[in-house]
Amino acid sequence: MSELKSEHASTQQQTPQHQSQPLWLLAELTYKCPLQCPYCSNPLDFAAHGEELTTDQWIDVFRQARKMGAAQLGFSGGEPLVRRDLEQLIAEARSLGYYTNLITSGIGLNADRIAAFREAGLDHIQISFQASDETVNNMLAGSSKAFEQKLKMAREVKAQGYPMVLNFVTHKHNIDRIDRIIELCVELEADFVELATCQYYGWAYENKEALLPTQAQLERAERITNEYRDKLAAEGNPIKLIFVTPDYYEERPKKCMNGWGEIFLTVTPDGTALPCHSARMLPIEFPNVKDNTLQHIWHESFGFNHFRGDDWMQEPCRSCNEKENDLGGCRCQAYMLAGDMNAADPVCSKSPHHQTILDARAAAEQSGEDTPITFRNERNSRVFARG
Ligand code: SF4
Ligand code: SF4
Repeated sequence: MSELKSEHASTQQQTPQHQSQPLWLLAELTYKCPLQCPYCSNPLDFAAHGEELTTDQWIDVFRQARKMGAAQLGFSGGEPLVRRDLEQLIAEARSLGYYTNLITSGIGLNADRIAAFREAGLDHIQISFQASDETVNNMLAGSSKAFEQKLKMAREVKAQGYPMVLNFVTHKHNIDRIDRIIELCVELEADFVELATCQYYGWAYENKEALLPTQAQLERAERITNEYRDKLAAEGNPIKLIFVTPDYYEERPKKCMNGWGEIFLTVTPDGTALPCHSARMLPIEFPNVKDNTLQHIWHESFGFNHFRGDDWMQEPCRSCNEKENDLGGCRCQAYMLAGDMNAADPVCSKSPHHQTILDARAAAEQSGEDTPITFRNERNSRVFARG
């Protein structure tokens, strides 16, 4: 396992200024959330993390990032609607010239609040569903009212003139109903639908046995999605269906965040700055916006510089003729599955740890819908935090 590196060590390295810009800022405003999705990408120990940034601190982050070239700002969480200053943050972001996107479960939303967001200048709202079936949706969300509220809010978002952008996270419990999911999206007159199979980080990693679909389930879902795409296009329906497969059924990894520290910047509720929203799990001490400017964080910090370029690579990536394509894949996946954040992403069939992926696929064939699930909530998070 790689050793812990500190922010202090980075200042001694005198790394040269990097030419990239944080074009995409993800503001994780809070880890609070009324739901408990077992595939949530928040850290397992989120309950133990520090105080949330204040309104002024967030606005300062937005200003600094905008000066550095950031153009898109996503409000996420947890559930960002929990923040009572969301309207103010949206208005500030708008006045700074950002294109803004609210990523929400819809719980805590109402017609007045959507109107207030519109007034404040919010460009885009994405509502996530757990399933097309009320019982499954509410079981996974941990709320008996979630499905009804989501339907209502999806309709309201559209009625107030926003494009309807829906996100369905698919997994073993809902992927066989992909036809019903798509039909629901059509009924709701969605414009864009992301049918995104879970990626196995955070709580999803903890629950991967219960959530990872089999290869046959995945292939069937993709085929049905393609058939619907053709049918809907022939009917003149402009809906866009985006199907995302899990890394676990690939033979080559994806380039992590389009390159580490290239365009993405995530700021967590307590102000920790990350090159990717999952990176907090790595044994790296990431900088905090309360202690450092974003200029310093982006260009000088160890956390942002360590995986830039390919100097950090070890074999088989170092001498691989495909390394420009994927930069060795995801550092978090390497850390979780190979126990070494500098290793090749085990998704890659050239990785000596690829067997972990094959084992997970085999386990998916065995597991059923009764495999136990650990829900994402404060109580379970405190157990993880205690270690
Ligand atoms: S994935 Fe679910 S539990 Fe996690 S923040 Fe989103 S709505 Fe809440
Ligand atoms: S060995 Fe490394 S660089 Fe080569 S394809 Fe696999 S992950 Fe990518």
